[in-house]
Amino acid sequence: MGNGSRPGTVVVREIDHEPFEVDGEQYLVRELVWNGIDGRSYEVVRRRDDQVLTEEESFDTYPTDAQIAVALEEHGLDAEMETCKMCQKEILVATARRHDKGWVGTCCWDERLRMTA
Ligand SMILES: [Zn+2]
Repeated sequence: MGNGSRPGTVVVREIDHEPFEVDGEQYLVRELVWNGIDGRSYEVVRRRDDQVLTEEESFDTYPTDAQIAVALEEHGLDAEMETCKMCQKEILVATARRHDKGWVGTCCWDERLRMTA
C-alpha cells in the first residue's frame, strides 16, 4: 500500500462470519486481516451495536464454541451448551444443528449431513 505502516498494525479487511443468536441478540465472529502479515485475529462481536466482546484479548485462530461461550459468559450471557455427537466437544446450541436425537456442532457439520437428518 506504500503508506509506510508497519506490518501487522492496520486492519485491511474485516470478514463477518455467519451470525448466531443468544438470548435474543445476534452475535458473530469477526475475522480481522492485517497489513503485511498472514496472521489473523478473531473477535466475538454483538451485531446490534458492534460491541466487541473480546476487546481485551482476541483469538489467533477461529474460536471454538467453548471459547465463544466463555466470551459471552464474561458479559453475563449464559449460552446454552450441548455436546457434539460426532466429536464430543462442547458446542453452542446457537450454532449447532439438530441431527437425529443429538446435536452436531459447526466443528463437524457437513452439508451432506443435512440429507440424513
Ligand atoms: Zn464436533
